[in-house]
Amino acid sequence: MSILKVARIAHPVLRSPAKPVPKEAFRDRLFQKLIDDMRETMYEYEGVGLAAPQVHEGLRLAVIEVPGKDERAEAEVPFFVLVNPVVTPLGEERENGWEGCLSIPDLRGVVPRLKRLKLDALDREGKPYSLEASDFFARVVQHECDHLDGHVYVDRMNDMRSLTFIKEFEDHVHADEE
Ligand SMILES: [Zn+2]
Repeated sequence: MSILKVARIAHPVLRSPAKPVPKEAFRDRLFQKLIDDMRETMYEYEGVGLAAPQVHEGLRLAVIEVPGKDERAEAEVPFFVLVNPVVTPLGEERENGWEGCLSIPDLRGVVPRLKRLKLDALDREGKPYSLEASDFFARVVQHECDHLDGHVYVDRMNDMRSLTFIKEFEDHVHADEE
């Protein structure tokens, strides 16, 4: 497995809509290796999700894993793969929460997201699945799926004044919230 280079904003791959993964890809050794490498890369940079455009691959593919120890998460989400995902809102309720992105290093900002959604996607074998996500898990799904349409979280912020460096977040914002 390899740790892949992460694209940062201003790289065009992050602003281009990604292409659907074709059926043949699931049997392709290189496609399966890409998934393993994305997993490794997500762990290396301590992300909870990674989308293929972030590693310079314009494919509708992402990986997610939320460790139980993550203080933002209500529940652990074991590693899973999203291929050609489709998000359907469940209700209109939105919630503000902090997000960061490996493609916009060292920053965080408050982003409104759907509180509940349904996700339809294929797994790494090409098998369809459907699940419901809420709260932080739903946030991560929306963040990763946004990458597949060329969006990043700062596009979704209502108030840019919440944008903060992680160090200053720990010193000032996080301290205030406790
Ligand atoms: Zn991101």
